[in-house]
Amino acid sequence: MSLDGAYDDQNIFARIVRGEAPAVKIYEDHAVLAFMDVFPQSRGHCLVVSKTSRARNLLDVEPEVLCKLMTDVQRVARAVVAALNPDGVVITQFNGSPAGQTVFHLHVHIIPRWIDQPLKGHGQGGIADVDALKVLAEQIAAKIS
Ligand code: AMP
Repeated sequence: MSLDGAYDDQNIFARIVRGEAPAVKIYEDHAVLAFMDVFPQSRGHCLVVSKTSRARNLLDVEPEVLCKLMTDVQRVARAVVAALNPDGVVITQFNGSPAGQTVFHLHVHIIPRWIDQPLKGHGQGGIADVDALKVLAEQIAAKIS
């Protein structure tokens, strides 16, 4: 999908937000949901999405929604660092399929990195074990302030 197009309310993240599809949740409030990526590029790879906006990408989103979303990206990223002690953290966000976007509901990736562990390719990580994701989500959630 290019940068232009209509929001599809059957996309997987919209279904997760509505409770119609499963997710391993880390943090949630009235506006934002953070959950584990099921095809993680590294241990602890997670996503933060708006629960209220129909934005497909960063270019679409209402500025006030973006401010709240990015504030919570920082909150969750700090918790990932506190819980997992990575050497670095990649924060990514893709706009349009030519840029690598595959789910057209605005989301931000939080991807912890360790010096001695290569990053798996975007969407190339293979599906994760749900029980292992639940352990990680609990560790991260315990550090959210
Ligand atoms: P993007 O390619 O930037 O649109 O990112 C979409 C991300 O969503 C990828 O990293 C996928 O691994 C991840 N993903 C796809 N389906 C699910 C799902 N059901 N639950 C959690 N993460 C998902």
